[in-house]
Order: sequence, then structure tokens, then C-alpha cells
Amino acid sequence: MKTSEKPSAVKTLDDPRWQRVLARDISADGTFVYAVATTGIYCRPSCAARLARPENVSFYLSPNEAESAGFRACKRCKPDQARSLDINTEKVAHACRLLEASESIPNLETLAENAELSKYHFQRLFKSITGVTPKAYAQAHRAQKLREQLSEGNAVTDAIYAAGYNANSRFYAEADKVLGMTASEFRKGGVNAVIKFALGECSLGSILVAQSDRGICAIQLGDDPQVLLQELQDRFPKAELIGADIDFEKTVAQVVGFIETPTRGLDLPLDIRGTAFQQRVWQALTEIPLGTTASYTEIAQRIGAPKAFRAVAMACGANSLAVVIPCHRVVRNDGNLSGYRWGVERKQTLLNNESRYAKNNV
Ligand SMILES: [Zn+2]
Repeated sequence: MKTSEKPSAVKTLDDPRWQRVLARDISADGTFVYAVATTGIYCRPSCAARLARPENVSFYLSPNEAESAGFRACKRCKPDQARSLDINTEKVAHACRLLEASESIPNLETLAENAELSKYHFQRLFKSITGVTPKAYAQAHRAQKLREQLSEGNAVTDAIYAAGYNANSRFYAEADKVLGMTASEFRKGGVNAVIKFALGECSLGSILVAQSDRGICAIQLGDDPQVLLQELQDRFPKAELIGADIDFEKTVAQVVGFIETPTRGLDLPLDIRGTAFQQRVWQALTEIPLGTTASYTEIAQRIGAPKAFRAVAMACGANSLAVVIPCHRVVRNDGNLSGYRWGVERKQTLLNNESRYAKNNV
């Protein structure tokens, strides 16, 4: 070992990486490895092996660096194998299938045992990859199953049991949150829901704005107004869609005004429907300042789920409130525009506009 890298307790305790080793922080894996002088072995930050004493620990940026300093890879955490992330991903995917297939939600202990991890590390890993806790994941899956059951026309109580809810009363207390309306309303396909909409033109092409009794529930952009209307009908198949309402035209004018002049702000209630994870992503998007962009990875980090960048990209794609929830401000790590639900040219136009407004506003 080179003398310059001789470990000392003070050096280790002062190194912020030591805290991540103490926390067995999975999100630190791949960013560094630590080596133990007494065993000659180096590990990933998240290694489940017994912790070394700080005076024996030194840090290396990569497995290569640790190996050229004379250390061997730990057999347990296999820090030299880039595939460890995939092993973790597989463990989580397996747990997801288990959660989906189970009649009652398996407890954390069972899930962790299956994944051969401690409860704490399993929960942490699951959350870092999916963005939610195993319990929240199971609940979201049930809600999805319930929606399907109800859409097939099953009786409300049958559907609730078929979806795996066992406490009826508790479900009713949460139904509104899960479905965005009461269970029986949902079964009728949103029959009682009245949705006002209007089609218009703005600098980005055709625009459709729709509003439920809760607030704006859709802002869609496109080339063909007929297609936009069809999309709205598909999303709310049995709701009563009302067009050409004079009062609502004013609201649409407000939305178009906001799109043309983003510095104005939009002071309208929004009806945001999505999973808990999607809502966290969308909230983070609204915090990206005008005239700037963020990467999918950065958003994943900001919501505390650093590995969930793919799920973040999917949540961006599921946004149904164009511009107001600024998914156009999310780009690839290399600054490339990546995709946009309403066309990448519109994304470019929006970003160009915004950077112009941001500069003028300084
Ligand atoms: Zn190890």
C-alpha cells in the first residue's frame, strides 16, 4: 500500500464518505469503495458485512484504484461487479411481483427475508428504486386493481374485496383519495362528473383545457383539435363533457395567456390526479425555476429516490397538465432535450421562450 494512503481514524471520521458507510447507504454504491487494512478487502458502501474500525479504513474512487493499492474485492458485496445494481433491481422487482400477487400485504420482515436483506436495508433499497415504500406500492397496486374491478361493472363491495381490501369502512374513508371520486361514482364511469372543456389555438398549436369541479384537470397540446378531444373522452369515458361555456372560455384565455407569457403565473385551482409518487415528481417539477432545466436524475435525487430516474421519466410522461406542471424543463443528463409528451419541438420552443423571459426579468 502506498504510504500516502495509510489510513488513520481521524482521517476516516472526518471523511463524509464514512457516514455513508455507517448508514450502509445503497445510493452511495458505485460512487466509491472502502478498503480495510486488516483484512486486505475492499467493499461497497452498502456492504452488509460487519463494520471495520475507522483506523483501518481508507477510501478509493473505484474498484480499480483499490485493487492497484493491493486490496481484493469482498465476496459478499462484490464491489468489482458492475452488475450489483442489477441484482438489487432484481430483488426489488421480485418483491414487487410478490406484493402484487399476495392476498394480504406481506409484512416487511417477510419481504426482507426473501431479498436476503435486513428490514432496514430492504426498505431503503426498495424506496431508492421505486420511489415509494413497499406498503405504499402495495396500496397503489390495490387501488389500480380496484379501478379495474369497478370499471368492469362489479358491485362496489365485491370489487373492494377482490382488490384485496379487507376493512370496508377504512376503505370508504380513503376511497375519495384513491379514486379521485367516491367508489360508486367511479363504478358508474364518472357519470356524475361534469367536465367543462374548450379548444383553442396558441403559439404552440392547438390547445385543449378541461376543468372538473375540483379544478383544471387537463391541458393538452397538439396539431389536431379533434385528436385532443378524443384523448379527453378516452380519459373520462362516461363523464359529461360540456364545451363552449362562456365563463370557462375566460379560464382558457387565462391558461393561454400563461403559456404565452410564463412570468405571469397562473392562479387557478388544479385537479391533479396521480399516484403518490407521480405527485411528488410533479411537485418537484413545479420547483424548477423558470428559464432553467433539471435532469431526470436530479429530480430523482430531489425527491429522495436517487435510483428512480426511470420512474421519474415515466411520471413526466404521465403529466396531463402541459406547461403548468413544467415537465418540459426536464432534460437528459447531457443536456439533450430527450422526449416530450407533446412533441420535442414544442419543448424546445417553450424552453427558448422561458429563457428569454427569465433574462428580461433579471
Ligand atoms: Zn463487502
